[in-house]
Amino acid sequence: MHDFDVVVVGSLNLDLVTRTERLPGPGETVIGNSYAEFAGGKGLNQAVAAARAGASVALVGAVGTDHAGGHLRDVAAAEGIDLTHLATVADRPTGRAIISVDDDGENSIIVVPGANARVAPSDIPLGRVVIAQLEIPLDTVTAAFRAARAGGATTVLNPAPAADLTNELLSNCDVIVPNEHEVELLGGTDRLLDAGVSQIVVTRGGAGVDVVTRASSLHLDAFPVEPVDTTGAGDAFCGALASRLAAGEPLLTAVHFAAAGGALATTKPGAVPSQPYRHDIETLAASRPTAG
Ligand code: ADP
Repeated sequence: MHDFDVVVVGSLNLDLVTRTERLPGPGETVIGNSYAEFAGGKGLNQAVAAARAGASVALVGAVGTDHAGGHLRDVAAAEGIDLTHLATVADRPTGRAIISVDDDGENSIIVVPGANARVAPSDIPLGRVVIAQLEIPLDTVTAAFRAARAGGATTVLNPAPAADLTNELLSNCDVIVPNEHEVELLGGTDRLLDAGVSQIVVTRGGAGVDVVTRASSLHLDAFPVEPVDTTGAGDAFCGALASRLAAGEPLLTAVHFAAAGGALATTKPGAVPSQPYRHDIETLAASRPTAG
């Protein structure tokens, strides 16, 4: 018996975004033109993506006792995401990404993991699919996947931001979803197959997706859209993929749906706000026959 379609084990951040004519050098102060705060973190983004794609979702993570933690809780709750396993920790602030963008679009980013470094749940709710990323401790992801497998769940890893992974973690992944840079850093698809991952889905932005298993390697083109902001496309893809795998769809059908979700996310600005809804994903997905 599974309590949820999708359990996301991951990060929540408040993104603090400033815009300035040019980025300051060391020791320098510059005047900014604007400031805005956005809900973010790959865990929260993917939980929202899966929920909007139609899944029942629980988010396992941690925030601080500060204002940002309460805000991120509210954002997730408004999407219908179960937060029973979202811890509030007293000794760390809520995770933050401090982002400066200059007039040329160049940026500099400081990520403070804060409470995300404290995600270490003793029990993970049961989901048909358990999905994680790498903005929380690797040991936590490994333990969560081992428990998920024991409970009969399918495990999906989005190895972002890029990091070297142990064979122990990889041997507990059913599906891995790296982008084109991450797959190189992980040593390529053969290394991943040798480590025991059975299904590899490599996202290549506007160039589409490769689906690689021991038996076959297949390319799916991206859906043609007019991108305005690609932030959140990878998270939209992962959340949509998890929702369809939880529904029991075969991998290629789920990837087709996920690619439509990723494409739609590029047509709106932001990460959480740009996550598409099931109906719109289905409409775009239906514009082309499923591969395979
Ligand atoms: P990440 O943000 O993790 O690097 P990608 O940029 O590879 O992820 O995007 C994930 C998926 O979203 C792609 O595989 C594709 O299906 C879809 N996508 C991303 N960018 C575009 C685009 N410009 N046009 C159409 N689809 C896109």
